[in-house]
Amino acid sequence: MSHNSGAILVLSGPSGAGKSSLISKIVDHIGPTYFSISTTTRAMRVGEVNGVHYHFVSVEEFKREIEEEMFLEYAVVHGNYYGTSLGPVKKALKEGKLVIFDIDVQGHDAVQNRFGDITTSVFITTPTLGELKHRLHNRLTDSQDVINNRIEMAKREVQRISEYDFLVVNDNFDEAAEILISIAKAARMKIPTLQINEFIQTWETS
Ligand code: 5GP
Repeated sequence: MSHNSGAILVLSGPSGAGKSSLISKIVDHIGPTYFSISTTTRAMRVGEVNGVHYHFVSVEEFKREIEEEMFLEYAVVHGNYYGTSLGPVKKALKEGKLVIFDIDVQGHDAVQNRFGDITTSVFITTPTLGELKHRLHNRLTDSQDVINNRIEMAKREVQRISEYDFLVVNDNFDEAAEILISIAKAARMKIPTLQINEFIQTWETS
């Protein structure tokens, strides 16, 4: 049976938990992937590149894309719009790739509704709230207001960990990366419901 029909790995968790660094660390060890580049209306941070970290657009542009139904899902996070375009995701799935999303809990909901049978989800967080505060302050990229916002959001998001398949506590970075590699490899083996039904039919009649 073919396992190369593509699958989805959703990564959620507070900003500052180390999702981006973990993705960079594991991406060369998990086979063909497509990292979904979200569209956002938030301001670009120092070191970010348009089209690499996000597609940065104006609120008007974002609203136009909503009207044109270009998004698989979108949400307002920390007062800014964030959305995942459907087109590139479908293409990557067709190519048999593991599509990786770094999206919030609302986005995870939407992906589960649409692609639940091929989705594996992971919540990544720091060992404690104190450690998250420490990391956000050390990042030096955000104002105190933004940091407070992210902390409040993190407190709400952790309440929904049980909606995820896995919890990865990013205490030891290398260990967390190893765990994530195992999860990503297993995620790729998820089979769409349709293919399972076809398999059963063939299995019974052969
Ligand atoms: P940041 O501004 O730190 O890059 O991201 C803030 C939050 O927005 C993170 O929790 C991240 O997972 C989430 N996020 C990024 N892109 C998307 C998206 O396309 N959809 C949704 N729902 N959330 C997103």
